[in-house]
Amino acid sequence: MNQKGRSENEVLSLLKNAMQKDTSYDKVLSAMCTQPHPIAVKAHMQFIESNMGDFGLFQGTKELEEKVIKMMGGMLGDDNACGYVTTGGTESNIQALRTARNMSKKKHPNIIVPTSAHFSFDKIADLLGIEIRKASLDTEFRVDMDSVSNLIDNNTIALVGIAGSTEFGQIDPIDRLADLALSNNLFLHIDAAFGGFVIPFLEKKYDFDFSVKGVTSITADPHKMGLSTIPAGGLLFREEACLLPLEIDTPYLTIRKQHSLAGTRSGAAVAASYAVMMHLGMEGYKKIVKRCMKMTAMLVKGCCDLGIEPLIEPVMNIVALDVPDLDDVRKKLRAKGWATSITRNPKAMRLIIMPHLNDNTIELFISDLGECIHRNVYHI
Ligand SMILES: *Cc1c(COP(=O)(O)O)cnc(C)c1O
Repeated sequence: MNQKGRSENEVLSLLKNAMQKDTSYDKVLSAMCTQPHPIAVKAHMQFIESNMGDFGLFQGTKELEEKVIKMMGGMLGDDNACGYVTTGGTESNIQALRTARNMSKKKHPNIIVPTSAHFSFDKIADLLGIEIRKASLDTEFRVDMDSVSNLIDNNTIALVGIAGSTEFGQIDPIDRLADLALSNNLFLHIDAAFGGFVIPFLEKKYDFDFSVKGVTSITADPHKMGLSTIPAGGLLFREEACLLPLEIDTPYLTIRKQHSLAGTRSGAAVAASYAVMMHLGMEGYKKIVKRCMKMTAMLVKGCCDLGIEPLIEPVMNIVALDVPDLDDVRKKLRAKGWATSITRNPKAMRLIIMPHLNDNTIELFISDLGECIHRNVYHI
């Protein structure tokens, strides 16, 4: 740090310089986050001082958090679900499995996740001392039920299903996982970090939430398709008792107990989530998802016309494309300003069609993609 402080203008201009190196979302097809809704930004700024780590001082924000959880519970099949606003999918997944572990009291616990699980589960293995067993996928990238069954043993404490897998946007057979969990007396956690704010609004209906008997907890992130500000994740439990294993005494705060993983945490993101959910309502989100799905269909059609097929018919606004010379094509696309991503197994181009995109961007992308592959053909 400098001995003497710099003027506000000087600092602001330093910030401006830094921001110029950040990528604007315009040509980003690789992100699960997006520009927050303007009302979320307003609410965030309004509540910038609020600390949910000591919510005794911030009763108003605390009430907003309860309302956010209630709205999310309603969206996910149980008006009476309980939980809290986390920093994101990672914290939600950690806390859900921490509850499962603490409730089971097994010495060498293991959990079974699909190989398509988000890398936060590898953090969980390390942090919680839980063995993570990875079940294989079927040809449509859903978890294979036989594989899950075969991995269960006396030390298994939980099953994890993904509703909107990070790479393929696929939904595991949650009802069948629930049957298996119930018959083996296991905790069933659903990771819908991305899908939580998508699946309820799709034309096609999926059983993936608390409406399925046997689902114990759900992760769903307002800071992804919920259009809230970062950091806003959601962790929901069907039973209030699930929060107890997370409770810690907090002797020097205005509250007695805390169950979040983070201590000091953002009340601004809570207010932002509340604002955008109140403002959009179920209808608003439905419109946004519909628009993203329309762009997704347009993208797939354009790619098929170029001879590039998706690995599966997209279930949500995530597309995995079988692109020849993938690394090279991605590099060329990057040079044209496009940020794309990849899937691991099989390796393919992964694109997420978020609300910050529009029809023109999709058309431009298809045309640039066409150029990049044709140029490749020409070089051969
Ligand atoms: C994004 C994502 C996560 C992690 O969420 P963060 O908010 O980045 O911590 C976990 N699971 C799934 C399925 C995701 O898509």
